[in-house]
Amino acid sequence: MSRYCIGNWKQNLGPGETIEYCNQMKESLQKEPLHDRVHCVVASPFVSLPYTGELPQNIERAAQNCSSFSHGSYTGEISAAWLSEVGCRYCIIGHSERRQFMKESSKEVYEKYVQLQQNSITPIVCIGENDMSMKDEERLSFIIAQLSLFSSQESFIIAYEPVWAIGTGVIPSLDWIQVVSHNISSKFPSCHVLYGGSVNESNAESIISIPTVQGFLIGGASLDPKKFLAITHIAEDAMNEG
Ligand code: PEP
Repeated sequence: MSRYCIGNWKQNLGPGETIEYCNQMKESLQKEPLHDRVHCVVASPFVSLPYTGELPQNIERAAQNCSSFSHGSYTGEISAAWLSEVGCRYCIIGHSERRQFMKESSKEVYEKYVQLQQNSITPIVCIGENDMSMKDEERLSFIIAQLSLFSSQESFIIAYEPVWAIGTGVIPSLDWIQVVSHNISSKFPSCHVLYGGSVNESNAESIISIPTVQGFLIGGASLDPKKFLAITHIAEDAMNEG
């Protein structure tokens, strides 16, 4: 199964900064190219999408959200069809920040998923528990329940991101990541399962060594092209070993 390193820029790197980012990325790639065994994807803000188009073709492009409607009177919304038109192959949906700050419900996340599938964009569905103090069984049921509307027959990307691990520098135990990723993989065998939450150059190797983890969703570390590529190279090396 292929692997993914997906950088989630969140509300960072507008058009001007994206031009600079792309230049740095091209420079780093000249020194140390990627070998295309890992999908390297950047999820930029909408307005930076035309500029990420300047990246080498083996860096794929994603959006961080889309409309749950196909078109119409929904001021400010961006349709999945338009994302496809500007070259997005992936789109993050259900990120915990949108669930928390924009009050996005699982039903709405599912409606966005349908829009993306209809437009041949691979959905990256984020799930994860808020509270690390829950009992293991309760915690696992909470995580899996966020996928209850999704069909286990379909193929998409699931990013397990414990909310308390995002941007905190703290990650769950490897045993726990293994339990959750294994559980998701056995229920959704056609999906890629990624881990997200404080991934960096120091912890990437151990996390990617878990057989049911097929890559990363990376926030903070993806804002620096050198750090992002270093993590992608770690994922590539792990594939060569595996
Ligand atoms: C994220 O928000 O998707 C994320 C994984 O962030 P960070 O890597 O900064 O924890």
